[in-house]
Amino acid sequence: KACCDVVSRGLQVWQGRVYVATLDGHLVALDARDGREIWKVDTLIDRDLRSYSITGPPQVAGDVVVVGNSGAEFGVRGYITAYDLETGEQRWRFFTVPGDPAKGPPEHPEMEMALATWSPDSDWASGLGGTVWGEMNYDPELDLLYVGTGNASPLAPWYRSPGGGDNLFLASILAIRPSTGRLAWYYQTTPGEMWDYTATQNMILADLEIDGRVRKVLMQAPKNGIFYVLDRETGEFISGKPYVFVNWTTGLDEKGRARINPEATYEKGPTLVFPTGAGGHNWPPMAFNPQTGLVYIPARESGMVMGPQPGEYRWQPGRTNSAHHIAFSFFVDLLSPPERAQYDAVIAARPNLPDPATREFLLAWDPVRQEERWRVPIGSSELAGGGVLTTAGNLVVFGTSAGKLLVLSADKGELLKEIEAGTGIMAAPVSYEIDKEQYIAVLAGFGGAMAPMYPRESAAYRYQNYGRLLAFRLDGGATPLPPLRQPQQTPPPPELPDLTPERIGRGAGHFFTYCVFCHGARGEARLSAYPDLFRMPAATHQAFTSIVHGGVLAPNGMASFADVLSLEDVADIQAFLVAEQAALHAEENAARQ
Ligand code: CA
Repeated sequence: KACCDVVSRGLQVWQGRVYVATLDGHLVALDARDGREIWKVDTLIDRDLRSYSITGPPQVAGDVVVVGNSGAEFGVRGYITAYDLETGEQRWRFFTVPGDPAKGPPEHPEMEMALATWSPDSDWASGLGGTVWGEMNYDPELDLLYVGTGNASPLAPWYRSPGGGDNLFLASILAIRPSTGRLAWYYQTTPGEMWDYTATQNMILADLEIDGRVRKVLMQAPKNGIFYVLDRETGEFISGKPYVFVNWTTGLDEKGRARINPEATYEKGPTLVFPTGAGGHNWPPMAFNPQTGLVYIPARESGMVMGPQPGEYRWQPGRTNSAHHIAFSFFVDLLSPPERAQYDAVIAARPNLPDPATREFLLAWDPVRQEERWRVPIGSSELAGGGVLTTAGNLVVFGTSAGKLLVLSADKGELLKEIEAGTGIMAAPVSYEIDKEQYIAVLAGFGGAMAPMYPRESAAYRYQNYGRLLAFRLDGGATPLPPLRQPQQTPPPPELPDLTPERIGRGAGHFFTYCVFCHGARGEARLSAYPDLFRMPAATHQAFTSIVHGGVLAPNGMASFADVLSLEDVADIQAFLVAEQAALHAEENAARQ
């Protein structure tokens, strides 16, 4: 649910203008001097049924600015659109997956080619996915725009494309000519994608000497756990090696095509797959240092238990539509006892595979030899480490969700400095110089939709959690810490009539479908940047229906859920929250006595 006019991750400043996308699907050009709006366009093709949003930054390429979107989990069709830098007029649109052939001919030649890789009875209604939600990249010399595409919708291929096929252009890297919008080459990382293995992770363009020859390469470490080196002029596959443990593939052939491991498919039942859908590497950007020749990857080794969704799949607007069932090691506390038993049984049946528990580390990777040089452990849970900066001064700098900024030597990975910031860090730091003085700045802040469920070691457990911009230099003073978090005090919940276990159970179901992703689960809610629904004051309880159903707080970013929840559903959610709040209140009272 993209509810408000929130700025998406990243923007681009170019020739006196700022190009920025909004979560609600607009692209805006502003005057860089005074912020005056020059033009604004609606980039979405369907605002009625489809849950599109924009989370990635726009990319200037030649004389156009290109933007993608997000929402494949909800069932959308991926595409990017190019707009004239000056006027905002649409120049071209490139879909990443085909549309329903019964509704018209392919929109552009590449869709005809893609269509041949899909089953004629594909689930066109589900949009098929392939959204472009990460950073793109542009090589001005070759005049090519590089685009990484996302996962399938739904993930389960036996619903999506029952006859099989590679399903282009899911999980692919595309090179597009910005002046025409035509495809120059493509490379698919995960044929027939079914594990949420997006190829939207950041792409680094560099010149590398490989077998005695300098190659113009594109490097990517997508979610699927393979580090790729491609020739960015021709798309030729140069090399690909796992940078974390993987079992979805048994290896790549000479042309870089992955052989799918039948033991990692999950049509017949749940199985243990490495890496998880959260990826061996996700959106926190990796960095390349030409002096050391190393790429620094915020990496993660972990496994997931993935199985078919019970019952028949049919796309439903406004809901997640992925047709699979998944359990990550960092979510196991949220599983019901029968689900937990199944999870443990699947893992016990595969004793030869590694422990699926999450291990995060900063990985220094040699892209020419395709091998690890060193690694530094960061944490034991999701999103433990943010994006990476590396400098000509032989430094690697990155932050952690535990609120530390780490400075390492780029060649050997020796810890040179550990700065306690007190605020979880997800963004990559930047380096700049003023009057011959080097500064390193980082946007510190921890939150977002999934963050409430994440790391135990997060600084948000110890300090009050709000965003800060921190800048450092060698003779800078002590880092000011945020105030310590105060112990939680749960107000007594209101008396509700008809607080039956059935209502509470139904309410819990709706809560975990619609509310938990922003507001967090009980006990974890305090990490969320959004209001804690388990400790609502009396006034919020009184206004609950008018907020959730009536949308009275829509201007603050809390949209009405009347399109997906009835008044009775909302009352059931409140019943669940009241029961939980009563339990918390009683626990705290007991602890005080
Ligand atoms: Ca996804």
